[in-house]
Amino acid sequence: MELIVTEKDNAARRIAEILSGDSASTERRNGVNVYRWGDKRCVGLSGHVVGVDFPAEYADWRDVQPVELVDAEIVKTPTQENIVRTLKELAKGADEATIATDYDREGELIGKEAYELIREETDIPIDRVRFSSITENEVTEAFENPDDLDFDLAAAGEARQIIDLLWGAALTRFLSLSAGQLGDDFISVGRVQSPTLKLIVDREREIQAFDPDDYWELFADLLKGDTAFEAQYFTREDGTENERVWDETAASEAFEQLQGAREAIVESVRRRTRTDDPPEPFNTTQYISSASSIGLSAQKAMSVAEELYTAGYITYPRTDNTVYPDDLDPETLLGAFTDHYLFGEDADSLLDADEIEPTEGDEETTDHPPIHPTGEIPDRDDLSDDEWEVYELVVRHFFATVADPAEWEHLKVVADANGCLLKANGKRLVDPGYHEVYPYRSTSENYVPDVEESEVLNIEDARIEAKQTQPPRRRGQSRLIQEMSDLGIGTKSTRHNTLQKLYDRGYIESDPPRPTKLAIAVVEAAEKFADRIVDEEMTAQLEADMRTIVDGEKDLEEVTDDSRAMLERIFGELHDSRAEIGEHLRESMKADRTLGPCPDCGESLLVRRSRQGSYFVGCDGFPDCRYTLPLPNQGEPTVLDETCSEHDLKHVKMLAGRSTFVHGCPQCKADEADETDDEIIGVCPECGDTSAAGGEGGDLAIKRLRNGSRLVGCTRYPECEYSLPLPRRGDIEVTEDVCQEHDLPHLLVTDGEDDEDPWELGCPICNYAEYRERQTASGLEDLDGIGSKTVEKLAAAGIDSLEDLRGADTETVAAEIQGVSEDRLREWQAQANASVAAD
Ligand SMILES: [Zn+2]
Ligand SMILES: [Zn+2]
Ligand SMILES: [Zn+2]
Ligand SMILES: [Zn+2]
Repeated sequence: MELIVTEKDNAARRIAEILSGDSASTERRNGVNVYRWGDKRCVGLSGHVVGVDFPAEYADWRDVQPVELVDAEIVKTPTQENIVRTLKELAKGADEATIATDYDREGELIGKEAYELIREETDIPIDRVRFSSITENEVTEAFENPDDLDFDLAAAGEARQIIDLLWGAALTRFLSLSAGQLGDDFISVGRVQSPTLKLIVDREREIQAFDPDDYWELFADLLKGDTAFEAQYFTREDGTENERVWDETAASEAFEQLQGAREAIVESVRRRTRTDDPPEPFNTTQYISSASSIGLSAQKAMSVAEELYTAGYITYPRTDNTVYPDDLDPETLLGAFTDHYLFGEDADSLLDADEIEPTEGDEETTDHPPIHPTGEIPDRDDLSDDEWEVYELVVRHFFATVADPAEWEHLKVVADANGCLLKANGKRLVDPGYHEVYPYRSTSENYVPDVEESEVLNIEDARIEAKQTQPPRRRGQSRLIQEMSDLGIGTKSTRHNTLQKLYDRGYIESDPPRPTKLAIAVVEAAEKFADRIVDEEMTAQLEADMRTIVDGEKDLEEVTDDSRAMLERIFGELHDSRAEIGEHLRESMKADRTLGPCPDCGESLLVRRSRQGSYFVGCDGFPDCRYTLPLPNQGEPTVLDETCSEHDLKHVKMLAGRSTFVHGCPQCKADEADETDDEIIGVCPECGDTSAAGGEGGDLAIKRLRNGSRLVGCTRYPECEYSLPLPRRGDIEVTEDVCQEHDLPHLLVTDGEDDEDPWELGCPICNYAEYRERQTASGLEDLDGIGSKTVEKLAAAGIDSLEDLRGADTETVAAEIQGVSEDRLREWQAQANASVAAD
C-alpha cells in the first residue's frame, strides 16, 4: 500500500480526487479522514502535528528559574494526537510513502515531522513531491517525478522553531514573574512578536513627540465661462513652489491681496501625459495589501487565500516571487476564462491585443510563482462572499498584469491674480488601459477646463484655511506587514498571525493598531535589558544562520548553541534588574486601566474586576475609599484617550466582537441615570392588577440604569423583578399606537431626530417574545453569515443547533464542509458562546 501525506485534510481530499479520477472513498479513523482508492491511502495533517517544547518538569513557572530554560533539553511532543496515531497506524501497513506537504520551508519541516513519525514504525522508502497549485496537471506531474526530502531545509525551519521557543519562553517567563503576572495575564515576548511591537511603539513615540506647526493655505475659484474650478495660492522660491504660508501676518496680507483681485490672467498652461503602469504580479505582501482595500484583515485575507489554494482555484498564496515563470503561458490562462459569464468579456478583450507581455517585479524565485488563478474556475455558489471577492481579485490582478498601461493627461494652469499666483492641476484618464479589467485602483479625475495663455478669467470666492502639520500616521495592518517584510521580520506565512497575537495579548488595540501602555513598557524593558529581542538585527542574523543551514555550511546544533550562549549573557544582565523591571511593568498595566481622579478621595479610579468576573470602576484607595461606578455587562473594557471634560475621566470602550461599542464616561452615564425619571408606560403584568391576588399596583416604566443600559421594568423593583430588555443605543420614543393584547404603547428607536429608517420595536412584551422565539428556533440562522444553505451543510456535518456548534471541533468540521473555513467556524462558535452568555 502507498501512503500519501498532505499538509491539511482538504488538500488530501483534493489530491485524492485528482489521483483517483474522483473514485476515492472516505473512511474515518480516530476521527481523521483517510481517502482510499486502489492500494493508495491519503491522509492530511493539520500543519504541524508535533511541537517543540520543554520536558514536563519545566512546566511550573514558579518552580523553574527562567534562566534554567536556556540549557533545557527540547523534546517533540504530539500536538494532534489523533492524526499522529492515524499516521502511524497507516505507516505500519504501507510499503511506500509520499510526502506531499506544501512547497516551502515550513512545508518541508512539516514533511520531515511526518517522515520521522513514519520512521518510528517502518523503514519503507519515503518520497517527496512538490507543486505550487493543486491542479490536475501540476499534481499528476509531481507524482510522476518524485524527489527526496530536503533535510537541510527542514533543519533550518527547526532551528528557528527551537530559537523561538528558547527566547520566547525564557523571556516571557522572566517578565511575567517579575511583574507578578501569572496565569492568563502573562506578559509575552517573542522573537518575531517583539520587533513588530517595537515598530508600532516607535511610531507611537514619534506621534507623541510631534510638535505641530501652524500654516495657512489660500484658495480661490476661477471661472471659464460658467464653469468654476478651484485654484490654490502659491509662491515661488528658487524654482520650488510653496503652497503653505508659515507666517500668520504674511498669510492675512496675501489673503487681502487675493480678495482684492477681480480677475486672473493665465500665465502658463502645461499639458503632459503620464503613463500609469499596471501592477506587478502578486506576492503575498502585495496580495494582503490589495485584500485590505476590499475590507479584509491580513489574517482573513490569508485564510481565504489558503481555502482557494487547497480547492485548486489559485496558486500557493505564500510567495515572494513577482515574476511569472516561463511555463506560465498568459494566453492559455486567459483562454480558460473566455467563456465565463463574468470574466469572459475582459479575457477576450485582453486576448485581442497584438502582444501579451506580463509585467514583472524585482524578486524572482523558483519555488512558487506569483499568486495567480489556476484556470479552474469555481462556481459562484460554491464559494462564500469573501472567497468569491478574493478569487475575483486574484483573477483581475492577473488580468491587469497582462493588460496595457493606462494613460493620464495632466493639465496645469498657472494664473496671476492681482500679484498672487494661483495654480490648478487637472487630470483626465485618456486611456483606461488596465483599469478596464481592474477596478481596485482609483480613476477619479479632476476637471480643469481648457484655457489659453494670457486668457483672462474671472475670480470669485477667495478662501483662507488655517492648518497644522500632522504627526506621522499609525500604520494599518497591511502597511505593517509590508514593513515587517521589508525588515525581514517573520515570514510570509506568519506575519499576519503575529499581529493577531499582539491584539490577543492586549498589546495593541483598534485599527490601525495603537500600542497600550503595557506594550510600551515591555518594549522599554526589552530595549534596556535585552535589546536583541526587539532588534531587527537578531532577525537578520537568524535569517543568515538559517541560510547557512540550508546550504549545509552549519548544522542545527551549532546555530542553536550560539543562540543559547547569547541568551545566557542576557540573563546575566537581567538578574539584577528584576525588581525594577517588575515595578515598571506593573505601573504600566495600571496606567492602561486608569480613568482619572476619584471624586471622593483624589486617588485614581481604575477598571477592576469583581470576584464574579464582571467589570466595574473602583478606587485605587480601596479599602479606605469605596467609591465605585458600574460598567456595562457586555464585553471587555478598554480605556480610550478621550477624556470627559466635566469629570476628567477617560472614556471606556467595551470590546465585544461585532457588538463593540463606546460606553463613554462612566460617571456621566451614572449621573444621566440618576437624573432621568422613569417613564411610566403601563401596568406591570406581574403585580399591577390590584383586583387580582398579589396585585400591588406596580407600573411598567422605561428605566435608565447607571451602567448605561436601559430596560422596561416594574416601579416596585426590587420587590417586583419583572423586566424586559431594551436596546442600548438610540433614542426611545413612546408612540400613540397601543398593543391590544398587552395594553402597552409601541416603542420606536431612532438614531437622532432625522433618522429616516427608525426601528419599530413595537410592544416591548411582544418584541421580547418574538426575540426569544427566534433564539430558540435552531439558533443557527441567527448567526452572522449563516443562511439556509449553510444550515443544510452544517446539518450534513452533524450540527443541528447552537449547542452542537459550541461542542464542535472546528478543524474537523471545516474539513468536512466545502467552502467553510476553520476561521469562519471559530467566529460562529464565538457568537454561539456569546448568545449563551447573553441569556
Ligand atoms: Zn476614592
Ligand atoms: Zn463625565
Ligand atoms: Zn411588578
Ligand atoms: Zn404586546
